[in-house]
Amino acid sequence: MKKEQHPESFSLYPKELVEKVFNSTTEGIMITDEHLKITLVNAAFQAVTGYSLEEVRDKTPSILKSGKQDKSFYESMWKKLDKKGTWQGEIWNKRKNSEVYPEHLKITRIQNELGETTHYFGVFSDISIKKSAEKEIKTLTSTDYLTGLPNRFSFNELFLQLIENSTPNSFSALLFIDLDRFKQVNASLGNEIGDRILVEFTKRVRHITPKDSILARYGGDEFLLALSHIKSHIDAGQIAIEIIKMLSKPFIIDDLEIYLTASIGISFFPQDGQEIDELIHKADKAMYFAKHNGRNQYAFYFEELKRDSKRLLLLEAELRKAIQANDFSVHYQPKVSLETKTIIGVEALVRWENDQVGTVSPAEFIPLAEETGLIIPLSELIIKKVCLDILEWRTLDISNISVSINIASIHFQQDNFIERINNLVMQYNCSPQQLELELTERTIMKDSNNIISKLIKLKSNGFKISIDDFGTGYSSLSYLNQFPINYLKIDRSFIQHITTLKDKQAIVESIILMSHRLNIKVVAEGVETKEQVEILREMNCDIIQGYYYSKPVPSKGLMDFLELWEIHKQEGKV
Ligand code: C2E
Ligand code: CA
Ligand code: CA
Repeated sequence: MKKEQHPESFSLYPKELVEKVFNSTTEGIMITDEHLKITLVNAAFQAVTGYSLEEVRDKTPSILKSGKQDKSFYESMWKKLDKKGTWQGEIWNKRKNSEVYPEHLKITRIQNELGETTHYFGVFSDISIKKSAEKEIKTLTSTDYLTGLPNRFSFNELFLQLIENSTPNSFSALLFIDLDRFKQVNASLGNEIGDRILVEFTKRVRHITPKDSILARYGGDEFLLALSHIKSHIDAGQIAIEIIKMLSKPFIIDDLEIYLTASIGISFFPQDGQEIDELIHKADKAMYFAKHNGRNQYAFYFEELKRDSKRLLLLEAELRKAIQANDFSVHYQPKVSLETKTIIGVEALVRWENDQVGTVSPAEFIPLAEETGLIIPLSELIIKKVCLDILEWRTLDISNISVSINIASIHFQQDNFIERINNLVMQYNCSPQQLELELTERTIMKDSNNIISKLIKLKSNGFKISIDDFGTGYSSLSYLNQFPINYLKIDRSFIQHITTLKDKQAIVESIILMSHRLNIKVVAEGVETKEQVEILREMNCDIIQGYYYSKPVPSKGLMDFLELWEIHKQEGKV
């Protein structure tokens, strides 16, 4: 701290002492005469600016000017100096080596008894280190450490700038990008691999998005992308499509091929809102809608989503209660062998009726259960119910029917999945030989090595394995031989058009041929008409499942169906 000093009092001290103090302070000192000609500088001045006294003597302080402050800055500085006799502030100056640096400067005017200015006295300290630390802190707090992208806080600032610069004719879009089931990637492959995927994902998105767009990491596996100067909604949709397409190429990490998908929600400035929070909120809603609609797609925000998201919240709450209360039932849909004309098995399909929300389709609540992790307790309830029904059928002398159970990806990926399902089945006195596990194509394509060994273990324990919804994922027929599977279920979307579309016909035919070569039996799902049955029979399809024979029915209804089937069979009607 420096005190205001009166020159007279210096006379009390020896000249050498004053000089020593003058030169040993770490702050630069510069004294000028009344015409601003430099008369004296100290050692710190030289250290900071690079100029010696000889070099600056009789020059004005403008020798240090960086050009960073404009005329008005100096005008207001002089105004203050004239009025108050002192000025202080931060200022950018230039060193002898041309480097520009910030300093904190205090200038004091010195006057004689007559009030005439005799000197100016400047004391300054170099604050470049402090400044760069501040900048570093700002970067640290505004940047995501993993991807180097702006984080959600600096995104807000950047987005504000972006919309300030937007012209009346153009508008901006906000994309909320969420990687589907990324938690499972982290859980099964570890955070380190998860992190590497996020970094790679960032690079890929950056590569395909416009230079003037802003990509930020919002948190975890959520990203925000702001697009400016959009001409139409289609532009934003197009970018979303490109991101989704870009993900169809696997991430190769070490020797693993990892497939990811993303769900993207889009809101628009100014149509959907003026405030950043509102726009993010709406893009998030739309993203959730896309996710709930089957993932791997994008959706624009629309007003009805407000109501929809309320329903989802209600559904989630009701779902939790229903699991507690064991409030589900299981229906069974028969599978008919075309060769023997017998019912060789049934598929267990969960049903939920709720006072608050009415009858909810599994197509609606299963994705929600998967998203929230509730699928695991729910699935265990279903397995128990199936085991109990099988025991009951035994008392009715029906013991040759196998039951297939749908297993969600996140459930299958649990480390203790095999142990848990073995225990459950044993606990209920059931045998794995009578159970079939349906795993979707996407589930088994996730991380093949780990999955193959799990499948082998399950098979050796007696369970049968089906690939569900075949044809909707990424797997190709050539991968099939790697998996120890018993059945392959061709997705309904192929069967639906099998009598009209030649390409669907060709696909189904080659799936059947290939499967048979690998000793895998083929189930056609969603068969609704006699024509479909006939064409599938010609193609040598093994098993038919669909409304044509029966809708999913409760256990009691299944018993009736089986009885009737036997009668019809004996009468030669099937
Ligand atoms: P999925 O595994 O592909 O099940 C077949 C779906 O197709 C069932 O719908 C079934 O009722 C329906 N279906 C069967 N035959 C026909 C037909 O001829 N025409 C038409 N249009 N549809 C037919 P559901 O019961 O609504 O189940 C939908 C999806 O929900 C299932 O698709 C499955 O992915 C999931 N799901 C159902 N129950 C469970 C369960 O217990 N656990 C798990 N993890 N998922 C389940
Ligand atoms: Ca199924
Ligand atoms: Ca299916």
